[in-house]
Amino acid sequence: MAMAELVIPFGDPRDDQLPLEELIRKSERRLIQENIVARAGRSSLYVRPWRKAGVRAGAPRTLDDLQRWPLISGADWLQAQSAFPLQRLFVEPPRLWVSSAARGNTRKWVPYGERDLREIMGLANRMSRLVQLNSCDRVLIVTGPAPRTGNALPYLWAMADMLSGGRHLEFIPGSMATLKHSNWPIFAGRMKPAVLWASMADALALRQPLLEAGWPVAGSAAPTATSRKGLFFGHAMGDDRAALEYAYDLEAHSLYFSAEFPVLAVECPAHQGLHLWLDACLPEILPRSELERERSEAGYQPQAIWLTGAAEGAEGELVATTFGQSLPLVRYRTGDLVRMVGSSPCSCGCTHPRIEALGRMEPGAG
Ligand SMILES: [Zn+2]
Repeated sequence: MAMAELVIPFGDPRDDQLPLEELIRKSERRLIQENIVARAGRSSLYVRPWRKAGVRAGAPRTLDDLQRWPLISGADWLQAQSAFPLQRLFVEPPRLWVSSAARGNTRKWVPYGERDLREIMGLANRMSRLVQLNSCDRVLIVTGPAPRTGNALPYLWAMADMLSGGRHLEFIPGSMATLKHSNWPIFAGRMKPAVLWASMADALALRQPLLEAGWPVAGSAAPTATSRKGLFFGHAMGDDRAALEYAYDLEAHSLYFSAEFPVLAVECPAHQGLHLWLDACLPEILPRSELERERSEAGYQPQAIWLTGAAEGAEGELVATTFGQSLPLVRYRTGDLVRMVGSSPCSCGCTHPRIEALGRMEPGAG
């Protein structure tokens, strides 16, 4: 009964191809109708930064109006985590807690509510659709250990595909944490998956064990003949792309997400950047010049611009506003550097803007 009511969003391929202006207006409406800023204001995350900036949890009337609210950062998150009861971090009861990747006490804990999980599932289906996974593709998905977000993804993705993705995907989870004392690399290598999902560092480290276990030898087919795909994340792919494509005999796609911002931006088959889903977030960018000024001028408040208005090639820190149910993000500095690739329609047909994920900002910056 409950399952029948479980609606998985982002299932309509037409939403991948709406005109950019329509996508922006849709998100603006959602921001206002769902009262995102007022809801966010109930979380401890915003108490200090908003008080300091002299704003209240109110109702922005437009996207530009939203930019009156201050930027918040990972430091604010850690502050809220340590200074307030944890029950004040979320605004609606979570179903799942995950953490960011940082070490020790600097891990941010992120609550996902029911709708948040459904959105992640919908975005996982969308990822399958955008990179054109085939029916019955077998996916080796190498995740970080719990409590990292990726740890939940094989199960969420499998459920999403079962409920509404319709690709009959088959998942084999693996983890670097058990690489030395489990036979999963041998098992997975022998199963010859069509898709490898891993961080770039893990994919590079797994080359030898997987090849020894029977992963098809590189160069056995012309690159255009292979239907194998790699979904890689963690840092800018750069020269690793060719190495990974050769080693695994696959077509590489870059992927971007984080615990706080699980948007699953993914590179399409046109390989012209990662599509950042504009109906799942309101992205801004803090240009490098602003970041530099912030570093050199004490107390300077850097100014972000809407990503869709950024010039092609512009680089900076990604700032995200989300429609989170358990904890909406309002102008959250992700700490991730991105490059704007373009917001004109992509040759794949998708109209959502394209970015390149350049990796984490250097420690101490921002
Ligand atoms: Zn595209």
